[in-house]
Amino acid sequence: MAASPEVVNGAHPASFKESPYDPLFDPLVTPTGRGQAYAPTYWVGTAGTPPEDDGPINSDIDADIVIIGSGFTGLATALNLAQEHGVKAIVLEANRTVWGCTSRNGGQGQNASGRLYRSQWIQRWGLDTAKRLDAEIRGGFEYWKSMVATIDCDAQPGGHLYTAHRAKKMAFLENEARIMKDVFGYNTRMLSRAELHEQYVCDQEAHGALHEPDGVGVHPLKLAFGYIRKARALGVKIHPASPVLGWETVNGVHHLRTPGGIVRARRVAVATGGYTPQGLHKSLTSKIMPILSNSMVTRPLTEAERAEAGLKTTTFITDTRTLRFYYRLLPDGSMQIGSRSSVTGADAKNPRHFELLKEGLYRKFPSLRNIPIAYSWWGWVDVSHDMMPRITQPDPREQIYYAFGYGGNGVSFSSHAGRRLAERIMGRPGEQWNLPIYNSPLPGHLFAPFRRLGQAMLYKYYYLRDEHL
Ligand SMILES: Cc1cc2nc3c(=O)[nH]c(=O)nc-3n(C[C@H](O)[C@H](O)[C@H](O)COP(=O)(O)OP(=O)(O)OC[C@H]3O[C@@H](n4cnc5c(N)ncnc54)[C@H](O)[C@@H]3O)c2cc1C
Repeated sequence: MAASPEVVNGAHPASFKESPYDPLFDPLVTPTGRGQAYAPTYWVGTAGTPPEDDGPINSDIDADIVIIGSGFTGLATALNLAQEHGVKAIVLEANRTVWGCTSRNGGQGQNASGRLYRSQWIQRWGLDTAKRLDAEIRGGFEYWKSMVATIDCDAQPGGHLYTAHRAKKMAFLENEARIMKDVFGYNTRMLSRAELHEQYVCDQEAHGALHEPDGVGVHPLKLAFGYIRKARALGVKIHPASPVLGWETVNGVHHLRTPGGIVRARRVAVATGGYTPQGLHKSLTSKIMPILSNSMVTRPLTEAERAEAGLKTTTFITDTRTLRFYYRLLPDGSMQIGSRSSVTGADAKNPRHFELLKEGLYRKFPSLRNIPIAYSWWGWVDVSHDMMPRITQPDPREQIYYAFGYGGNGVSFSSHAGRRLAERIMGRPGEQWNLPIYNSPLPGHLFAPFRRLGQAMLYKYYYLRDEHL
């Protein structure tokens, strides 16, 4: 088919007119998009042509299982349903395929999920549950690695470096390293500033670091495109530009209203992450706090520039700030770095957020100050109110399932979450369902309408605590 200006990258068979990307999109206030172009990310710029999809929904249809959202979670759920359970699900995506966080993140695949550290798991649930949770998440990380191994996605193994941005943070890292080693059996080790600089990276503000051997950096969009190809080869249908704008349940059948027709489904899995619209379904109301995260990538650094900055590793790095910075050297020599952004979508383009990110990079690597920034973007992270995700069926009387609340740690965990969500939908029994990430719904928030006020105040406090107190 010859490409016309209205045809989107060969989407198949019913292409659609792409609508412009809205940089000010805010899931708490903006209506769900329809067929929006991708955010201008490094990943979109380097992933190549998106794989074929099944075009927007253009008539009423019936389905057994429908998945809302085509990020890692939705795609992994669909892929597992097809691969492991022989069920060909339908995926509805509001915008371009993989439009949300999955095409916008830092690509840091960690052996983690949610925002709590392993020491905090012990405090919250006790040692026995923490150990079982560790086995579950560790197994999920291994599963994700096995998927990464089958898809060309520029994988960069090497583990994870967790740097102390202030001297007093070394004690915290030492404690975490000890718990990971002694309690959970990981081969973690502590590095002094000199060892960090000599072996890995001359981060000027780091006082030392914890190294954990688990961690793989990936090109997230190449990975997600790989999931699409695998899923469609097994009969999964993926419909972009098909936002679910209304949801009614009649005699146990879910009627999902999209602009092109009603999709009637027996079972629905919600995988909309930080982009979950207000009012999509009552079981989701105020369960997720969408938090905006900023990211940017420099132009590829020359060998001399990398040497001057002291960039010797492609191992990915995060620091100990609550409003943390995370960065890594990409395979083409570009430097990627990310951190917090504005509280609201309306303020996302405010240059001060971009400046904050750039200054974060220059503080760590002063010699990069004059290197042009090639890409800058942002995206909404799905943070739950108790800092841990849920993969669950919130009401046993309803055939509705969801997986989200990864809190910025979803690159690897979302694939495992999709695998578990598929098992959950198919009613497969298992010991794991007793774990806290599976056995309860996400908690809501008592003061939901005022959450952003609280967030703005917390950001000020975190900044003070991270930098000065
Ligand atoms: C800047 C940034 C950096 C990050 N860095 C990292 C990192 O380095 N490591 C890490 O582990 N995690 C990171 N994350 C988080 C990670 O990207 C996410 O946890 C993960 O991609 C979540 O995938 P998902 O499939 O659950 O959601 P998404 O990828 O967000 O997919 C949700 C999809 O649902 C669609 N949707 C929403 N509403 C509807 C509707 N009504 N109808 C149909 N479709 C709908 C959206 O359009 C979207 O495409 C980062 C996130 C951001 C924003």
